[in-house]
Amino acid sequence: MYQLEEQVAIITGAGRRGGIGAEIARRLAAEGAHLVLADICRSPSDLPHAGNAAWEELSAVAQEVEALGASSLALQVDVTDGRSVQEMIAQTKEKFGRLDILVNNAGAAIGPAPILHMAEEAWRKTLEINATGTFLCCKWALPLMIKNQRGGRIINISSIAARKPRPFMSAYAGSKAAVLALTQSLAQEAAEYGITANAVLPGDINTEMKQWGLQMESMVMGSSQEEVTSALAARIPLGRLGVPADVAQLVAFLASDQASFLTGQAFNVTGGRELT
Ligand code: NAD
Repeated sequence: MYQLEEQVAIITGAGRRGGIGAEIARRLAAEGAHLVLADICRSPSDLPHAGNAAWEELSAVAQEVEALGASSLALQVDVTDGRSVQEMIAQTKEKFGRLDILVNNAGAAIGPAPILHMAEEAWRKTLEINATGTFLCCKWALPLMIKNQRGGRIINISSIAARKPRPFMSAYAGSKAAVLALTQSLAQEAAEYGITANAVLPGDINTEMKQWGLQMESMVMGSSQEEVTSALAARIPLGRLGVPADVAQLVAFLASDQASFLTGQAFNVTGGRELT
């Protein structure tokens, strides 16, 4: 449908099988793209967070996309480490010789808490993964994309929290607002190379990260996780939480030629949640 045959895409945070990144990988593979699948494959912090992908999970995602016909390269990458990101780009160049699509999906909410009680490290680590990680991947991917002389697509996974911050989530919301602003600056800088940059703002998408958030909310509210989940679905005009495929569809479109006149835009994938 979106014809990404022979295009090469990097997807960060692609390791969790039920996560948004893995679903983006499956979708881009189904469209014909070849994939570099990157994930940290270890805990990003000792502070409370939703967990992370293991190397075995990332390898399993790589096997799935190969079964769909894609060539793939699974890499252990820490997006907060410039050298690790540069190594990812070097390995992409070595295996595929080019880069057409970068999806900055790696993300985390580390130690969410009211600012009054938030650990300084929780703020720093969340900003480092979501904002600095996106910056570093854009910075080091751009030279290879520009070298192609075929344009490119950068798709940054922000969050609706960038526009509608909620209590306890100041670090996460701030980091995702930074991703949105970075995307809009980058769109103007990269346009001369035919590279577009857009942000996707998911709302409540049913992944392990979301389940962890709901678990915490249920502890604070003294209700069961099922009750908290139903109450959330009732606040979403379309009546359900999103699924990773809802995000992956949009990413596939933004990666395609059909989105060639879209840049610097931010697309909510929320079922209308922010309207209520
Ligand atoms: P997830 O936890 O399944 O995926 C995040 C992935 O990022 C994990 O595989 C993790 O190992 C990886 N990661 C963490 N730190 C990393 C690092 N330093 N380097 C490389 N990889 C790292 O969560 P998800 O729900 O699939 O979220 C995917 C993206 O969507 C994230 O950016 C998240 O903030 C965003 N998002 C999710 C929701 C939602 O409701 N699920 C809503 C809005 C935005």
